[in-house]
Amino acid sequence: AAPALVKDTDANAVALGYKTDGSKTDVKKYPKYAASQNCANCALYQAKAGDAAGACPLFAGKQVAPKAWCSAWAKKA
Ligand code: SF4
Repeated sequence: AAPALVKDTDANAVALGYKTDGSKTDVKKYPKYAASQNCANCALYQAKAGDAAGACPLFAGKQVAPKAWCSAWAKKA
C-alpha cells in the first residue's frame, strides 16, 4: 500500500507550514507563498506521472499531496 498522506496537523507539517490544500496557506506567516506554487512543481517532489501523491525528503515515510505547499518550496531547476 502507498504510504499515508502527511496531515496538516503532523508536527513537522505544522513546523513547515504544510497545508494539503496550498491555497489555505497562512500568507501573513508565509508571504513568499504564491498560488502558482505547490508540491507538484517543487524541486523536492518525487512522483511518477499519474501518481496521486508523491514523496518529499522532508516528510520521510509519508506522501505529500500535489496541491499541497510548505515553506520549503523550491523552484525546480
Ligand atoms: Fe511539498 Fe516541496 Fe514542501 Fe516537500 S518541500 S512538502 S514537495 S512544497
